Amino acid sequence: KAKSMGKDNYQFYSEDMSNYSYNRIKMKQSLDFALENNEFEVYYQPQINAKTNELSGMEALIRWNHPEDGYIAPLDFLPLAEEIGMIIEIDQWVMKTAMKQMLIWNEQGYNPVILSLNLSIKHLQHENFVSMLKSNLEETGCKPEWIELEVTESHIMSNYEESIAKLKEINKLGIRISMDDFGTGYSSLSHLKLLPIDKLKIDKSFVNDIPEDEEDVAIIKAIIALCKSLDLTVLAEGVETDKQSGFLVENGCSYIQGYLYGKPQSNKDFERNFLKS
Ligand code: C2E
Ligand code: MG
Ligand code: MG
Ligand code: MG
Repeated sequence: KAKSMGKDNYQFYSEDMSNYSYNRIKMKQSLDFALENNEFEVYYQPQINAKTNELSGMEALIRWNHPEDGYIAPLDFLPLAEEIGMIIEIDQWVMKTAMKQMLIWNEQGYNPVILSLNLSIKHLQHENFVSMLKSNLEETGCKPEWIELEVTESHIMSNYEESIAKLKEINKLGIRISMDDFGTGYSSLSHLKLLPIDKLKIDKSFVNDIPEDEEDVAIIKAIIALCKSLDLTVLAEGVETDKQSGFLVENGCSYIQGYLYGKPQSNKDFERNFLKS
């Protein structure tokens, strides 16, 4: 098709293509370099039981401090890392780093809370995923009941048959599964019933305009009711105001995560701000 548009267009197209592969090669090199040179850091964001005001867990979120370009947001490099096959190494690095941190906190005598790890579907699909998970637990001394894995709803649903078997294996190890970004990925209720999940995380997009937006209010109420009848824990993401938090708690969603309670922060800050002996 490019050829039929004339020679100039064709050249433009191929130049674009080589730019594209050039960028991918550069990105691969930068990510390799970043892994070797400790440019990545794990941040932790608190998850709160708003009924008791106690910390219930924390989500590990990767941060990239690039020496020249400064901070690069996860969504600006993870999708490409996924495409070029580097997401597994990166997710494994996050998992091991956060698990080691859990053990340190445990040895320091802090009350145990759950560590939530985000998982790319590529990582979950890796044939050795479960054995890698097991050896990470063994190597770090982390207990399975301290860990929860977050998989996004759209990823699970687009790979449903494969995912369900994998998630069952993981669940058998005693590790909890939570469905991230819930509401954005077209779960059918019958699928939801069959998945071995423990928690739904209501996506931030539904939380933003509550309690003013009537449709979002209706959606959130429906999700909470669904969780109750399927015996799932429900957590709302991206909670920024007292108004939002008040509405959620009143309507039965007591697990909350968002800037209102705390931004993602370094291990040192998290320890100082949230951990109690
Ligand atoms: P997510 O798992 O849904 O994580 C929640 C995102 O919302 C995080 O963005 C967090 O910083 C942000 N957030 C939390 N509370 C608030 C709030 O009150 N207001 C606002 N405006 N934002 C809030 P972040 O850290 O940029 O991460 C973006 C996404 O990147 C994550 O979405 C997750 O899908 C992915 N991600 C992050 N770390 C990892 C990782 O280690 N592995 C994988 N596979 N994915 C990761
Ligand atoms: Mg998440
Ligand atoms: Mg989310
Ligand atoms: Mg998200």
